[in-house]
Amino acid sequence: VAPPAVTSIAQPHPAAAAVRPTPAVEVLDLHKSFGQIEVLSGVSLSASAGEVVSMIGSSGSGKSTFLRCINMLEQPNGGRIIVDGEEIRMKKTSDGRSHPADMRQVERIRARVGMVFQSFNLWPHLTVLENIIEAPVHVLKERRDVAVEQAHALLKKVGLSEKHDQYPGQLSGGQQQRAAIARTLAMRPKVILLDEPTSALDPELVGEVLRVIRQLAEEGNTMILVTHEMQFAREVSHKILFLHRGKVEEEGAPAELFANPRSERLRQFLARTL
Ligand code: ADP
Ligand code: MG
Repeated sequence: VAPPAVTSIAQPHPAAAAVRPTPAVEVLDLHKSFGQIEVLSGVSLSASAGEVVSMIGSSGSGKSTFLRCINMLEQPNGGRIIVDGEEIRMKKTSDGRSHPADMRQVERIRARVGMVFQSFNLWPHLTVLENIIEAPVHVLKERRDVAVEQAHALLKKVGLSEKHDQYPGQLSGGQQQRAAIARTLAMRPKVILLDEPTSALDPELVGEVLRVIRQLAEEGNTMILVTHEMQFAREVSHKILFLHRGKVEEEGAPAELFANPRSERLRQFLARTL
């Protein structure tokens, strides 16, 4: 048995606690039900600017629902969501559920949250370049030539310079996902949510997408990553949360969490997946 890896994160000076930077994302005590079934039962997560926080857990544990609540693709029934220092204002209705109070605020915050899906979600009738400039031009009201120039730079970053004129259907899954990542970056999000970004890919295409995500992590992008790629999560994450039936069963620094899982459920999960 290998000795537990030592986490060598230096303790901040006590005075530093007083000037902690605003987290890029803070979620407090999030609840979400579908009908009578509660699928998130008080989940909290905080990611500082530049941090990568990964969520792991069995299928059905609530990972996607949690990400979808952060950018309000699902409306939570309780809890607080704060993105880049701005809290999404909620109001309670007579049935006791909560809803966003102001959809314009939701739209504004959503524009700061990038989302990368398992299924790429590119527009099939638009070229790669058109996919990337669509939101900057229509949502951010950027000038088209500025957006095009930026799109070319992003395509270079994800290794797709030659594909700008192709349609998504002409690309491999790995290329489509890299184009989807470039499209997300074009909005200059404060945080990027990635929901199993490599799960739909043939095994030989996983590496090229993970390389891009690793590069984003190294460049200091704030990311919340749902993944089954345990080794990758371990390498790029500052923090890992293990979700079980809508609750954070365990969380910690990756080396610690993988080497010394405290909960029996996490131990079993890792034994199944590693
Ligand atoms: P994970 O991403 O961890 O696999 P999900 O967040 O997709 O989990 O799902 C959590 C639970 O919520 C599952 O039991 C799932 O069936 C349920 N669920 C998710 N979306 C809906 C929906 N739109 N309506 C009803 N139930 C849903
Ligand atoms: Mg999911």
